[in-house]
Amino acid sequence: MADRAQSLPENLPGPFFVDATCIDCDTCRQLAPATFGETGEYSFVKLQPRTPQEERAALRALIACPTGSIGGGTTNGVRDAAGDFPMKLDGGVYYCGFNSRKSFGGNSYFVQYPDGNWLVDSPRFVEHLASRFAALGGIRYIFLTHRDDVADAEKYAARFSATRIFALRARGFAAISASLGQITLRVSTFTTPPLASRRNSCLTMRSSRE
Ligand code: SF4
Repeated sequence: MADRAQSLPENLPGPFFVDATCIDCDTCRQLAPATFGETGEYSFVKLQPRTPQEERAALRALIACPTGSIGGGTTNGVRDAAGDFPMKLDGGVYYCGFNSRKSFGGNSYFVQYPDGNWLVDSPRFVEHLASRFAALGGIRYIFLTHRDDVADAEKYAARFSATRIFALRARGFAAISASLGQITLRVSTFTTPPLASRRNSCLTMRSSRE
């Protein structure tokens, strides 16, 4: 839980704040760019939410923050925002939220797939997410893009009897592919300008029957 006594001096006064435990993982800025900015060392509240939509986005950031560094909102608002996760992005692809400190706040995704659903990297283990994954058909495979940043993958694997697959890193981490039964999995990393220091991942899956 965020501590207002440790609130960063850059925060604009108001209900939402970021405290000094922030690890600058970028999650809040991705989820609520209207509210959160970056000083270069951490995030801060650059503008208090002005609309219900902006407040909901800020509350989602509060839920997803891996270090509990964001404060603000009502108990009911926080509970309702938690219900937004996993958040459907497109087709059967969901952003999990509940980012983990163990993986330095990295994003994770749930992918519905005819031959069995996938978890791509892992969120914190919380019963809310596990129940939602179960309602969406469970998890058959857990693909981990970083061997050392696996968050609570082991707990999700145990809950769903899922098979864990670790990416092998080639020099330069240009591309990885793995085959498992009838599924071909390819993960590629690429740089997105202008954030040249960041690397993003692109994941595609296809069945060899297709
Ligand atoms: S999500 Fe939390 S840890 Fe990550 S940048 Fe925002 S306040 Fe900091």
